[in-house]
Amino acid sequence: MTQKVLISSCLLGEKVRYNGSHCLIRHPVVKEWQRQNLIVAFCPEVAGGLPIPRPAAEIWGGTGKKVWEGEAEVITKPSVGTNANDAVTQDVIVTQSFKTGAEQCLALVHQHQIKLAILKAKSPSCGSEAIYDGSFSGQLRAGEGVTTALLVKYGVKVFSELQLEQAYEYWLGL
Ligand code: SF4
Repeated sequence: MTQKVLISSCLLGEKVRYNGSHCLIRHPVVKEWQRQNLIVAFCPEVAGGLPIPRPAAEIWGGTGKKVWEGEAEVITKPSVGTNANDAVTQDVIVTQSFKTGAEQCLALVHQHQIKLAILKAKSPSCGSEAIYDGSFSGQLRAGEGVTTALLVKYGVKVFSELQLEQAYEYWLGL
């Protein structure tokens, strides 16, 4: 078995999240893939040119699939000043950076002939089952992030870090 596995960089301990943190997973399945040198790490938001740290972003108007269809946008969280002299920051549309990072991820997938990805749950890029709904209120909606939507379209099976046993079973069958 030599099938490589794409994994969100933040799940491997890289400090690439919007707030400069990581979310390292310590799991025997990941350790096994690491032992066999089969992991390809990638962070689409950083690849798309976004800085660390960066404002939190959510998809407004739908899911990753809708972003690719031009019916939804990725926006950053607006901040509102606490008094009249404070600047009020409007939403910033960052859709293009998200799409650029996703396209780079797809190129990497093709380069390594990857068929399986473990991507961070709930992220506007990497989420697979649910993502935040664009209201910045902690509400989730069913659906996938921008990168996940593109990878799925091109036949990659995507699991989250919460589904590693299922992912390993899938990998064994590749
Ligand atoms: Fe990067 Fe995806 Fe992790 Fe966000 S969830 S930090 S886009 S790898």
